[in-house]
Amino acid sequence: ITQHTTLILMLGMLQPVFFVLILAIILSLWLAHRLAKRIVEPLNTLNLDEPLENENAYEEISPLLTRIEKQHRQINSQLNALKRRQDEFSAVTGNMSEGLILLNEQGKILSINRAAAQLFNADGSCIGQDIMTIERSISMQQLIHTALSGRHDEALMEIKGRQYQINASPIVSDDKVSGVVILAFDITEKALSEQKRREFSANVSHELKTPLHSIMGSAELIENGLIKKEDMPRFIGHIRSEASRLVALIEDIIRLSQLDENGEELTREEVNLLALAKEAKEALHTQAAERNISVEVQGMDISIYSVRRLLYEIIYNLCDNAIKYNRDNGQVNIFVTQDDTETILSVQDTGIGIPEEHQSRVFERFYRVDKSHSKETGGTGLGLSIVKHAALYLGAEIDLQSQVGKGTTIRVHFPK
Ligand code: ADP
Repeated sequence: ITQHTTLILMLGMLQPVFFVLILAIILSLWLAHRLAKRIVEPLNTLNLDEPLENENAYEEISPLLTRIEKQHRQINSQLNALKRRQDEFSAVTGNMSEGLILLNEQGKILSINRAAAQLFNADGSCIGQDIMTIERSISMQQLIHTALSGRHDEALMEIKGRQYQINASPIVSDDKVSGVVILAFDITEKALSEQKRREFSANVSHELKTPLHSIMGSAELIENGLIKKEDMPRFIGHIRSEASRLVALIEDIIRLSQLDENGEELTREEVNLLALAKEAKEALHTQAAERNISVEVQGMDISIYSVRRLLYEIIYNLCDNAIKYNRDNGQVNIFVTQDDTETILSVQDTGIGIPEEHQSRVFERFYRVDKSHSKETGGTGLGLSIVKHAALYLGAEIDLQSQVGKGTTIRVHFPK
């Protein structure tokens, strides 16, 4: 019985003990929560952007804050360096006239500069897209394919009516192709000047061949005794005039190629245009007198700071043409004038004129309106192209007015 009663007694006590226990647990949970909150709160409100500025932080965590601050500074300086490099890259590639595209190993665009974006009609939205979305030609596909397999390749493409050379090179890191660099160069001018050079060489050979054949023909006739004694002077005169045509031609070609080289800066000096025009007139005196053509030099006594030799070339050739393509007893007027912005040299003749449809072409090399007439008068077809070239070098502009049967005026405008 006593055993029973102790058990009951203890069971009876268990209830209040439980009650107190639960109360204690709840109380301690609440207290722990509050305590934790109070400890963590200052940590949560820490300003990690400026770790050293936290005044209500515990002393114990200040080494941590100092480390955070150090890392902050490191990250910032690395970010700045990266940004600087990115800016440099954009500045360099943005101002390049060549198109530049970087692709990753899947052929997706990583970067495209302004020139390339313009060339392929793309905008910023193409970043991350496949290169084929902006250029889907077969040759581009092949270029990328070759480059991605680790070899350099190039191709010529015509885009928007211009000639481009496209180079594709693999970017290799750790023996693996990790991308492709595409460079696009505009080679239109180069291709054009190469074509012009080829045409010029072909023309030169042709122009040289004709008088040489003629000289050879006459010489053979003389050699074989087929020329009567009294005809001899005519044939020899013919040989001489053809030979001097050759000399004139070669001199013109040399002048043109000197102008073509234009690498060296020619020395400039004060040149009196009026005096120079009078010099040219003197030099052409015989030609003018032969056909009773009067040459007048008029205008202001003006000096310009320019290249004497080129100016003389311009005046001499224009005056030479004005005499060559004049009528007998005709007139040539050379004027020198000046206004606020420019100095104008004009050469006016009363000659045969240039038909409208030829006017734009007479400045081309070897272009002649009337081939036989030009040859008769000893023309090489290069005079006006020398004038054009010299004017271009001096920054001058040329305009031409002409009426068939009435005459021609060519003005050269030298900017001040
Ligand atoms: P060329 O040596 O044949 O004179 P140019 O280049 O000086 O060569 O001139 C080209 C062509 O332009 C000439 O063949 C001629 O037909 C024409 N031309 C040039 N100047 C005149 C002019 N003042 N009057 C008429 N035709 C001209």
